[in-house]
Amino acid sequence: MQNLWNDQEAAQFTDDLALRVYTSRLLGKEKTLVLHGGGNTSVKIRTRNILGEEEDILYVKGSGWDLETIEAAGFSPVRLDHLVALAGLTELNDIQMVNELRTHMTLASAPTPSVEAILHAILPFKYVDHTHADAVVSITNTRDGLQRIREIYGEDMVIIPYVMPGFDLARICHEIYSRDATDKTIGMILMNHGIFSFGETAKIAYSRMIELVSRAENHLAAHQAWNLPRPAATDEAESLRVDIAGLRREASREAGFPLLLMTHRDDHCLGFAQRDDLKVISQQGPATPDHVIRTKRVPLLGRDIAAYSRQYQAYFDEYAPQARDPKTILDRAPRVILDPQLGLCALGRSAKDANIVADIYRQTMDTILRAERLGGYRALPAKDIFDVEYWDLEQAKLKKAGAPPLFAGEIALVTGAASGIGKACAGHLLKQGAAVLGIDIDPAIETLFDHPGFMGRVCDVTDTQGISDTVEACARKFGGLDMLILNAGIFPASRPIDSLDKAFWNKVFDINLDANLDLMRECHPLLRLAPKAGRVVIIGSKNIAAPGPGAAAYSASKAALNQLGRIAALEWAGDGIRINTVHPDAVFDTGIWSDDILQSRARHYGLSVEEYKTKNLLKTHITSHDVAELVVAMCGPLFEKTTGAQLPIDGGNERVI
Ligand code: ZN
Repeated sequence: MQNLWNDQEAAQFTDDLALRVYTSRLLGKEKTLVLHGGGNTSVKIRTRNILGEEEDILYVKGSGWDLETIEAAGFSPVRLDHLVALAGLTELNDIQMVNELRTHMTLASAPTPSVEAILHAILPFKYVDHTHADAVVSITNTRDGLQRIREIYGEDMVIIPYVMPGFDLARICHEIYSRDATDKTIGMILMNHGIFSFGETAKIAYSRMIELVSRAENHLAAHQAWNLPRPAATDEAESLRVDIAGLRREASREAGFPLLLMTHRDDHCLGFAQRDDLKVISQQGPATPDHVIRTKRVPLLGRDIAAYSRQYQAYFDEYAPQARDPKTILDRAPRVILDPQLGLCALGRSAKDANIVADIYRQTMDTILRAERLGGYRALPAKDIFDVEYWDLEQAKLKKAGAPPLFAGEIALVTGAASGIGKACAGHLLKQGAAVLGIDIDPAIETLFDHPGFMGRVCDVTDTQGISDTVEACARKFGGLDMLILNAGIFPASRPIDSLDKAFWNKVFDINLDANLDLMRECHPLLRLAPKAGRVVIIGSKNIAAPGPGAAAYSASKAALNQLGRIAALEWAGDGIRINTVHPDAVFDTGIWSDDILQSRARHYGLSVEEYKTKNLLKTHITSHDVAELVVAMCGPLFEKTTGAQLPIDGGNERVI
């Protein structure tokens, strides 16, 4: 592992806290040391308070900050003497501990200090660095881990047996450290958890971390267990969509709410999921306590959710019968499913959550494989995993999280999503917590939203194979489909019937009608597996009720689409799928309405542009956002008991009314 300390860079960080920021960021850059907020750092500084008294303050990483991007404000200042005194108590529950940490800060606006703050306080060094280094965790999680750690580190390190993070860990570290530390001690190993290094300067503590972790890496390398081979996995699958959507439905039912199920089918994940010994090596719990906290349990399910359910119940029976009260089971959902065909399936209520789960499990797979090469992976006993999962702090955090967004864990497909009404619909759905696949012929679709829950895909809706591929991609990326928004369409230039040729007519029908038939047919198998029932919203047109001369192809195609939607409402009601239609009119913020076109249309009617835009009974503007809000509402609980309905959104039109 490379030491990234650079004297020139470091010179820009002038005081003790600034240097703490600098080396914390260096640690944060190395993903094999810290992943998704794992690890924490501190510095002890003597300061003068408002009364002019001198105080020793521990600046420790605050919760919610990532080491890679941390600033001085990310360190919580806590009075050191109090923390050290706390370590002398025999007992302190997690809620009490957080209370002590928060009430002994010297800055009210600082974040809550890390739960490992007391542990930092009791180590008698100015700078303390703590990581969950992959190499160290891999070695400690083997059958003869303790012996190997002693062999690698000799007298340089104090070794702490596994204890769940929190007050007990700090107290036990205090005891063992006071007993075992010598002049030679430069760090501390926490079995099944991670590593501490310390020193009088930021540079020494950081450099020791790199040196100590490198020793673990070298040990692994010497046993061909560091750089893991990645043999190509077999990938013969063609259509997985129904399989995936079915699995997602089962997992969501188990959880009690919709979940995204994001599949990862690269060689790393498929290769692991296709191992013959998978059942043995993967069923042994997560790699470190932090992973448990973030991922809950990481069970191997294969395809058998029912088996998972039984296993989970047995777990409760054995360890916490009282926890079976549904009110105390906050999250029973599986987080990871391994399947030889589907690879690694990461579940979560948002794409961000599912991505974190996937990142952590990728790391866990390597920890397991490395430990296997060292003679056998051994994770924590189940009882300890349970303790970590359900410890008071986690419970408190979950309770505080509040209600999830309306469409959390759900997936929408929006056509014609690069601009206008489609773009507005995609944006509103994302805001309400849905994952969105937007398709369009405009390549701008690919980068339309910088959001983990958005996938943009170039697709011509008249390409039947392209539609099929898109639906498959949607299932592989997010796990299925809950909402289909049929928006793509064209409004061609005016053409009277006496000069209306068949090619023109067919083109309009291809896009406005036939493409939607393909989409509905391809999406139906997924919509019927949606955990909360599928929904389709069709963007219709005022022209169905109130056609205009010159728009024969457009109006006829939209009328036919309207009829298609009504039939689908009849045919799919048995699957619980609702199909409703909005009929917008005079939505002018949609790209096709340039200033020139607006002016010429307004002139045609002898109106000003403003009069033309509000040419409706209510004299109001109708925007693509107004339409999107109605579309989103039609997908939500307000329209839960409505199907086959048509709703105008046009400011009121005499011919429609
Ligand atoms: Zn830790």
